[in-house]
Amino acid sequence: MQGLLAVADRAAEDDEAVIDKPVHERRVLIPAVLDPDLARGVPARAVHQPHREIGHGRSVLAATDIRPGSAVGQAVVEWAMADRGWPEDWDERMAGRECPICAAVGQGDNDFWVAVSSGEFAEVYLERRSRLPGYCIVVWRHGHIAEPADLNPGQACGYWEEVLAVGRAVRERFDPVKLNYLTLGNTIPHLHTHVVPRYRDDPAPGGPIAWEAMFSSDPVPEAELHRQAASLRLLLTR
Ligand SMILES: [Zn+2]
Repeated sequence: MQGLLAVADRAAEDDEAVIDKPVHERRVLIPAVLDPDLARGVPARAVHQPHREIGHGRSVLAATDIRPGSAVGQAVVEWAMADRGWPEDWDERMAGRECPICAAVGQGDNDFWVAVSSGEFAEVYLERRSRLPGYCIVVWRHGHIAEPADLNPGQACGYWEEVLAVGRAVRERFDPVKLNYLTLGNTIPHLHTHVVPRYRDDPAPGGPIAWEAMFSSDPVPEAELHRQAASLRLLLTR
């Protein structure tokens, strides 16, 4: 769903400031959206916080690629220090005003995604322009909810169970080496989760994958998308 979610999220998440943090044996750059200090506008600095969960990142440049004083290092520092802000109409977006996902729910295929299935709590769509076969987006289908913490316990359990069921179906159909689950919504704050299959030959093995590495300008051929959607549908509804 490149136009509605991928590009939108990309603007908010992928272009966020980054910070150098260790992940396992390597150091990677992860977006400020995952770092509460940076999200509040605190300048980037190197920190050691191995306890923090890593989601996805703009880049997986190793620390050796961002040596202080190097061109890349300087660019990263300037980027991290840039004055970034939330959209002017952020409060309205959070409240669901003119929410494009609310408008898309229940409407089936569109230019960005192919409908896979509809569960009790969420709808499942296959991203048209992903470079990663099986990339699905799970969308909360009962009105506008921005934060998963606003779901009641039954809703929360139902939503995440359906997200995980999609993960199982993608794993069975596409055999990725790993699945990533991204619940972001920093541009369109309607609860949705990207279920991202990671492959042995993808561009960022062992770390977060960049948005630009996940999406293509050209969609997957229609017939292939519908074949994939049908096989996932079968797994989700059996
Ligand atoms: Zn909405």
